[in-house]
Amino acid sequence: MQDEVAIVSKKRKRKDENSSKLWHERLGHISRVRMERLIKEGILHPLDFSDFDTCVKCIKGKFVKTNKKGATRSTGRLELIHTDISGPYTPGLGGHKYFITFIDDYSRYGYIYLLHEKSEALEMFKIYKAEVEKQLELNIKVVRSDRGGEYYGKFSESGQNPGPFALFLRECGIVPQYTMPGTPQQNGVAERRNRTLMDMVRSMICHSTLPEFLWVEALKTAMHILNRVPSKSVPKTPYEIWTKRKLSLGYLHVWGCLAEAKIYNPHIKKLDPKTITCHFIGYPERTKGFRFYCPSHTTRIVETRNAVFFEDAEVSGSTSRKINLEEIQDNVTIPIIPDIGAPENENQNIGAHENVRQDPPHDDENTNEPLRRSERVRRSAISDDYIVYLDEIESNLGMGHDPISYKRSCR
Ligand SMILES: [Zn+2]
Repeated sequence: MQDEVAIVSKKRKRKDENSSKLWHERLGHISRVRMERLIKEGILHPLDFSDFDTCVKCIKGKFVKTNKKGATRSTGRLELIHTDISGPYTPGLGGHKYFITFIDDYSRYGYIYLLHEKSEALEMFKIYKAEVEKQLELNIKVVRSDRGGEYYGKFSESGQNPGPFALFLRECGIVPQYTMPGTPQQNGVAERRNRTLMDMVRSMICHSTLPEFLWVEALKTAMHILNRVPSKSVPKTPYEIWTKRKLSLGYLHVWGCLAEAKIYNPHIKKLDPKTITCHFIGYPERTKGFRFYCPSHTTRIVETRNAVFFEDAEVSGSTSRKINLEEIQDNVTIPIIPDIGAPENENQNIGAHENVRQDPPHDDENTNEPLRRSERVRRSAISDDYIVYLDEIESNLGMGHDPISYKRSCR
C-alpha cells in the first residue's frame, strides 16, 4: 500500500486549472466559443486561452453545416421530443451497435440509450417516457422523427401501416411528426446532435490511448457534457433549464486520462486501501462519482468517488492514431418511395398543441423527386485532415466562429 501511494505522489498532477486546453479536453473538445459562453455565464471560471490552439490531437471531428432557418422553439419542457437512431457502428463494450437519442426541444436536454438492434427503440422510449414524465410531472406531447421503419412502420398504398412505435404513440395520445423522406434537415435537432456526439467521441478517443470499443462510454460522457454547455439561443444550459438547478462543472475530468482509484471491496466491506491504476471513462448516471476502465483488474469497469486523476498530456494518444468509428452504411436500395405528401398528423393535430409551433416549410420539402433510401446517407467518409467541431449550433448563432478551417460542409 505504501508503495502505491508513493507512486501516486510521484506522478505529476496537472495544476493549471486556468488552462483552456485542459478545459477543452475536459469538455469533450467543444469549441472555444462554447467555452467562452460558459465563462460568461459564470459556470466556468475565466481561462487562459493562450494555449488553446495547441490542441492538435483532437482533430477527428467533422463540420457539417446545416443551418436551420426560421426554426422556432417550443415553450415548455416535453412539448416536443426529437429522436433519432444512429448506427450501426462497430460493436462497443456490451455489444451495442446503435444508439438512440431523445432531445427535448425546449431545453435541448438529451437522453441517450445504447441499442443492440434498432427494434429496441420502442423499449427505450418507454423507459425514457416513464422517467421524464414522472420526474418533471409533465407529459410528452409530440415526438418528431424520420420515417425510419422503427419509428414509422411501413408505407403502403393505403398509407401508413404503423409499426409498434407509432402504435404506442397513438395509444398514449402523443402526436407523431415525421420528416419527409430525404429531408433529414427537418429532423435537424436530433440528427445534428447525434453527429455532434460522434464527433466528440472521435476526438475523445483519438486523444486517449483507450481501445475503440469504449466509444459507448465516450458517447455517454459526450451527452453528459453537451447537456451542460450552452445551446442555441438559450440563455442557460440545457441542464439548468431541464432540472431548474444550478450547474457546476468542477468535477469534470479529461476523458481517458490515467487515474488511481480506490474501490469498494466487498470482502473487507469498505474501501480497499489499495488503489488501482485505471483510466477515467465517464460519470455514473445515478450517483456522484466516476467510472473507470481497469484493463488489469478482474472487474474492468468500476465506479468510485475516490480517485486521483492525472490529466497530463503524456497520457494522450498519438497524433497519427487512426480511428474507425463511422456509421456502417448498408448499401441496400429499397424501392422508390413515392411522394406521399404531408403526414396527416402533421396538419390535423398540431392545432391541438398550439404552443408547439411548426418550422416554416422549406422549399425542398415540396420536392416531387422520388428519393431512394440510399440517398439518405447521413455521413460520408471523413478525410484525415479536417479540423473541426461542435458547431451543432454555433454557426447559427452569430456568435462568431472558432479559428478553424472547414474542409468540407455538407451540401
Ligand atoms: Zn480538442
